[in-house]
Amino acid sequence: MAMQTASLDQQSGSRDRLSPFQSAAVIAALVFAAALFGILTRPVGFLAAVWPANAVLLGMFVRRPDLQIGPGYVGATAAFLATDLLTGGTILNTVLLTTANMVGVVTGHALFLRLPGAHRRLQQPHSVLYLFVISTLAAAMAGFVGMIANQVMFDKGAVAGWAFWFATELVNYLIILPIILSAPALSKIDFVAVLRGNRHQDTLRQRLTFFLPALGLAFSALLALIVGGPGAVAFPIPALLWCALSYPPWVTSILTLFYSLWILLLISSEHEIPLVNAHSQSTVLSIRLGVALVATGPLMVASVMAARNDLVRRLKRLAAHDPLTGVLNRRAFQETAGETLSEQANQGSPVTVMMLDIDRFKNINDTYGHATGDLVLTVFANIVRTSLRDDDVIGRLGGEEFGVLLPYCTKTDGRNIAERIRKMVAATAITIPNGGDLSATVSIGISSSEGSLSDLNLLLSRADAALYSAKRAGRNRVEEC
Ligand code: GH3
Ligand code: MG
Ligand code: MG
Repeated sequence: MAMQTASLDQQSGSRDRLSPFQSAAVIAALVFAAALFGILTRPVGFLAAVWPANAVLLGMFVRRPDLQIGPGYVGATAAFLATDLLTGGTILNTVLLTTANMVGVVTGHALFLRLPGAHRRLQQPHSVLYLFVISTLAAAMAGFVGMIANQVMFDKGAVAGWAFWFATELVNYLIILPIILSAPALSKIDFVAVLRGNRHQDTLRQRLTFFLPALGLAFSALLALIVGGPGAVAFPIPALLWCALSYPPWVTSILTLFYSLWILLLISSEHEIPLVNAHSQSTVLSIRLGVALVATGPLMVASVMAARNDLVRRLKRLAAHDPLTGVLNRRAFQETAGETLSEQANQGSPVTVMMLDIDRFKNINDTYGHATGDLVLTVFANIVRTSLRDDDVIGRLGGEEFGVLLPYCTKTDGRNIAERIRKMVAATAITIPNGGDLSATVSIGISSSEGSLSDLNLLLSRADAALYSAKRAGRNRVEEC
């Protein structure tokens, strides 16, 4: 399911809407596969315990705005009808079951459309609460049709019929929808980074720590089987919460699905199992509801963690970067450049440090205004940034003064790079808001270490002295020390 969602996400990279036929075909294929799975794993005399089709269908409509809704619904209805008829359903039963499925999905779809995007992706602290409310309403609506189906198919009373249908729909929405909603788009995954991976650099201990929450979950699932009894349904909760603290929502929702399937398949299996005596309908219903409710806890924690991690990432970025030019601020430059320099000194690699200062910048401010001065700073920082490699460290040390640390860079190479930047700055015409162009020049001081020096301040002060010489020698030049 997740794989299907991910690969479809990749297609949306083109941003084109699928044609009506494609929409109907994609949805019909997914619904057919998911409904077949539900029917094949259905216990005899019961409605299916695991019925992924409705959640997959709803999830696709929420995640994929490029699907055409009308044809999608036609495809889904056809697939529901076909699966049931092909697996031996009577026409009346098939129509009733299909109607119940569609009523739930349409309800959920209409409600999801009112939810902001971040909630639809389960990225906010309250997202799972919304998911819960929507799933409950969708399941309740499906329950009203299901109630009739249950009466016709199993001769069950109205209340029991509704409750059974409701609980089953709810658990399926709550365990399957989160996976589809929170799945990363394939196009957003940096496969090169994944392949290169940091994992192989991790120590054995770090690797073990990474897998511990998942191992804890497997262990508690086993414990639930061995100890048994109704309380066993709750055994994996601590491990699931641990997973939620450690993994992103998508991974947590997959692990929650494993837990839920484990319990659901156990209680709907024909064999005598030690969990509970699941042959009474009310026990099955109670456990399905219990599983649905247990599943929401870890998902809520995971989405709170996702929101928190995102906030921490943004705060860290804000704390380390200059808001005008986007390069590192003075403190972050000192820190990052200091670390890089010690690494280089340990390896005995050459390092070059540059100090760059825009010439007569005060004049630019005085002549064209502060806003134009800011524009010049931004353009200048972009020129420097695009002239450097990813590993180079660049920071705004103050006003119109910038520092750069170039690892694995000899003085000769450093000088060439500095000259390239100097020429490019002088050759760039900056279009000012009031019309017309202006150009600026830069003076650069460089200083190098052949691999033994790890004192950043010393290198910076030498580069500063060289910069001072460049200024005295007439500006728009590179000097070294
Ligand atoms: P020199 O060639 O000797 O470097 O002369 P200069 O005019 O560039 O040097 P000076 O240090 O005298 O002036 C730097 C000016 O930079 C003074 C200050 O007002 C201006 N400045 C500092 N920060 C900012 C900023 O964020 N935006 C703008 N627009 N100007 C700034
Ligand atoms: Mg200056
Ligand atoms: Mg200055």
